[in-house]
Amino acid sequence: MATQQVTAIADPFSPEYRLTPRDHRRQREAEQSREWVLREVAKTPPLTAEQQEKIATLLRSIERSPERRPWELRLYCGHVVVRDAAASNDDPFGESYLTCTECGLDPSAVIASRPC
Ligand SMILES: [Zn+2]
Repeated sequence: MATQQVTAIADPFSPEYRLTPRDHRRQREAEQSREWVLREVAKTPPLTAEQQEKIATLLRSIERSPERRPWELRLYCGHVVVRDAAASNDDPFGESYLTCTECGLDPSAVIASRPC
């Protein structure tokens, strides 16, 4: 009887890549985290205009690294998107997730990243 050999595709950027149990776990964790944040935010009173301006001022004061480079991100949904990050950061998207601009999946865990 012939046995079928299954070869794992290790390159997450390959179209043949199959999501691993770790990938599925990370996506579940991202979804749970997002739901928790939304529940907690719903419990707080809305910000006043003054509070919103203070937060906006604080966020604008954060310095962005002038040297940036593009990264390819392979998302849980299968899409590959490009984002930039500080050139000095070796793994800017390590365990993160984002909204996929291609299909709208929110959140979509970053399965792999590489500079491009
Ligand atoms: Zn997508």
